[in-house]
This record gives sequence, structure tokens and C-alpha cells, in this order.
Amino acid sequence: MLLAYPKILKLSFILFLVLISSNIVAAEYVNIYSARKENLIKPVLKKFYKETGIKVRLLTGKADALLKRIKLEGPNTHADLLLTTDAGRLYRAKQSGILQSYKSKIINTNIPSHWRDPDNYWFGLSLRARPVFISNDSPIKLDKNFNYEDLASKKYKHKICIRSSNNIYNQSWLASLIEANGIQQTQSWANAFVENFARQPKGGDKDQIMALAAGQCEIAIANTYYYGQMLNSNNKYRQAAEQVHIVWPNQSNRGVHVNVSGIGITKYAKNITNAQKLVEFLSSDEQQQWYAASNYEFPVNPNIEASEILQQWGKFKADKLNLNILGEYNAEAVKIMDRANWR
Ligand code: FE
Repeated sequence: MLLAYPKILKLSFILFLVLISSNIVAAEYVNIYSARKENLIKPVLKKFYKETGIKVRLLTGKADALLKRIKLEGPNTHADLLLTTDAGRLYRAKQSGILQSYKSKIINTNIPSHWRDPDNYWFGLSLRARPVFISNDSPIKLDKNFNYEDLASKKYKHKICIRSSNNIYNQSWLASLIEANGIQQTQSWANAFVENFARQPKGGDKDQIMALAAGQCEIAIANTYYYGQMLNSNNKYRQAAEQVHIVWPNQSNRGVHVNVSGIGITKYAKNITNAQKLVEFLSSDEQQQWYAASNYEFPVNPNIEASEILQQWGKFKADKLNLNILGEYNAEAVKIMDRANWR
């Protein structure tokens, strides 16, 4: 049959077969560099493939290393998207020139403006709060009018557990205090706050909750999803988490400090349309439910309710400052912590 066609057509047909088998013209695809663990993203990417036929290639790694890698790879990068945690980091990615802006009506409808970059370089996908934890049988009573600002009070001397200042969660939290109270006032606050540490900062957020449950301090500060993970584990973490509870600060004013995990399209993305489709997909009502719940986080999409476990922690008011500000004040926050001797 093939013999009946002119030579040029035969050749191009064979070339097409070669390309198909070598996957070059085969599937549509998109590449993500992700600081989020594989099990927290893979199922939703499989769903995306099922619905769109676009294959997602996932490379996971540490947040700061991925950012560096995309920068180093420059125009040769394979990354179409960067998925990472903390607005402070997303801001850093934007500032280092590795992201591009993408304006989308769908995203603007699904994600409130304070949880995405004002210039559309990154978008929050899930929300975590950084509240205060106390023991269930604590003698300390923190009422509805309790604020982060109160943590500097002398009555909490040597009673607070928190991780070190080189952690971005603390830097972003401090940046939110700068936005609320100004640099000078935040410096005085930080100086007094550090005096209230029960011990030299060490470990991650879970370790602060462990120390609280063990009676090494009376107040701990940690991100909500760690508490969720601990409550749903089957070991010492669960036992500890069951002995403590959340107190939501600043409920009669600006609200508790929140942050996001988020995504941005890279500057040198080769599969831009597919990358755009994936971001829109992740912001959609249906995906938001699973995506947030998978890591005990809150959806950024206001149409979606938090998972049942999270609803048990009670309703709270979240600080609605634009999270870009956390990045803008990052350097100032680090300076304040340094001067306060927060190690
Ligand atoms: Fe974390």
C-alpha cells in the first residue's frame, strides 16, 4: 500500500512514526519543580492528566534548592512551574526573576486577591495559620482578646517555645507584625519576646508542640498543618497533640497570621499554555477540596469549606494583608530578629 505513495510522503510518514515512538510529538506535557512532597500533589496531577490529556512531570526537592536550580538553569530550565511554600519564598522567586506574570479571570475568581501576587507572578493554593498553642490543663488563660503583641508581656517570662529565626515561617510572621505595628515598635516587641523564650530555639514546629506537651514551656507557636499531622499520626506525636489546643490570636482586630503554599509559572516555561491550565485547575472548587485537605490546610478558594478535622478547631478570623508584604519586609524582619538576639 505504502509503495503507491511518492518517496517524500513515505519518508515523512516514517519520520512521524519515529517521532511518535520517541515521545517527541506524543503527549502534551508540563513540568513542575515542587517543594511540596509527592504524595501531597501526585493524585491531583493524575486527575489533571485524566481530564486534559496533559502529562505532568514532577521533580521534587527542597524549596530553596529548587529556586536556585531554576535560576542556574536559566533559559535551559525544564521547569514550567515552581510549586513551593511560604509567600516570603514566592516573593523571593519573583524578585530573582525566575517567574512570569499570568493574568487569568478564572484564577482571579477562585483565589482572593490578598492570597496571590498583585502582579500575578504567583498564586496561593492552600492556606495555613500560625497560631498559639497551650496545654489543655494550662493555668494560663488566653481569652478572646489575646493578641500576638501580648507574647512580649513579662508574665510569660521563660514560658514560650518557638523555632529559630532562620526559619521563613517566623520571618514572615514577624513581617506581618511590622506591617501592623511598624519597625520600631516591632523591635521593642521582639526584644521583650525573646526574653520570654523557655529555651534556646531548636527543632521544627512539631518539636515546639512536643515540648509544650512535655511541660517544657506553656505557650508554643506552630503552623496549623503540623498540629493536624500530629493529631492524625499513630505515635507519640498524636499523644502530645491531644494534650494541647489552638488559641487564635488577634481575633478582635486584624486576625491570625496566615501564609500559603503557592505556585508560579517560570520565566522560561516551554509549555506555557499547559502550565496556565494546571494553575487554573488547581484553583478550581473541586481540586481545592482535596489539595488543602491532603496536608491539613485550609483552601484559598472561599467557595470551599475546610475539611472536617480543621472545622473542629473553630472558626477564626485570618489577617487579610496582601502576602506580598511578607516578602517586602523579610529583610527588615531578619534584622529585627538579629538585633533581638533571636537565634
Ligand atoms: Fe512546613
